[in-house]
Amino acid sequence: MTVNDKKSISIVVPVYNEEKGIASFHNSLIKVLNKIDIDFEIIYVDDGSSDNSLSIIKQINDNNIKVVVLSRNFGKEIALSAGVALSHNQGIIMLDGDGQHPVDLIPEFIHKWRSGADVVIGIRRNSKAQSFMGKINSIIFYKFFNFISSQKIIIGSTDFRLIDRCVADEFNQLGEQNRMTRYLIDWLGFERQFVEFDANEREHGEATYSTRKLIDLAINLIVSSSPKPLYLFSYLGVLICFLSSLLGVSLIIEQLILGDPLNWKFTGTAMLGILVIFLVGIVLMSQGIISLYISRIHDQSKERPLYVIDIRKSVGFNNQKILKHKS
Ligand code: UDP
Ligand code: MG
Repeated sequence: MTVNDKKSISIVVPVYNEEKGIASFHNSLIKVLNKIDIDFEIIYVDDGSSDNSLSIIKQINDNNIKVVVLSRNFGKEIALSAGVALSHNQGIIMLDGDGQHPVDLIPEFIHKWRSGADVVIGIRRNSKAQSFMGKINSIIFYKFFNFISSQKIIIGSTDFRLIDRCVADEFNQLGEQNRMTRYLIDWLGFERQFVEFDANEREHGEATYSTRKLIDLAINLIVSSSPKPLYLFSYLGVLICFLSSLLGVSLIIEQLILGDPLNWKFTGTAMLGILVIFLVGIVLMSQGIISLYISRIHDQSKERPLYVIDIRKSVGFNNQKILKHKS
């Protein structure tokens, strides 16, 4: 795609219970977009909000808006996928609807795209908006993930991204159910550039990515990207077996053969007990890990579509296209 082709952009905004902030978010977004020489559409993906977000978005009087309404809360990652799949423009920007991703940087994203990047990635520089625990969580998460996976994630990289049409087309082909958008885009590759930013404070409402959700996300990511946990636990199993047999053998020698010169006074039952506990532990751990993988296979084998769109409520789409789209 040449620079001259890069004339239209879709902004995909996942929205979940953002009634307080969404109108002012929209205003600041429109202000920035109007200053750039580009055709744009804004696709709001209502991810099953239970507040008034949807009616507020629908009240916005603007031809450039499309609204996709998911039939329930599917989570941000899937909401983003829905928005990307339904966008038509030559570039797509993903943006949080809570105002934490600074819209003022959109011109810089577009500039980098026009100067040759296929993927422009927002890197969170400092995280004044992030709690202490949040920071610890993400450092542990990145370190642990990069240790375990062959594909590295850049520290601070976010979903605030611009992707070219060619990347979006490939992204739409990916069918996994348990998905993390930024990981999949990283996996796709293409020409990348970066824009650093300071995340804004969330002005209204609360971040819905709880520690629990983050842990779920991390587990999904690790299981879908690397079989290493399986190996790790097998190694651990081997190690425990080795140590316990060593212990067992030395006890037998010390106690039964040499007649307990060190005065350990271990009974046979205690020995057996220790061994059995070790072995049961190994079996349970490896079974737990295997079951994680099996549950992914199970999810995938159901071949459900990634999301369900409520066509009656959505605005601005050709229904045929919505019906046809499957993961
Ligand atoms: N979001 C969503 N579905 C969800 C949770 C969040 O679409 O289940 C949206 C939310 O409205 C916001 C963005 O995803 O626009 C980021 O969410 P949040 O601020 O909760 O996450 P964080 O800032 O902690 O990454
Ligand atoms: Mg947020």
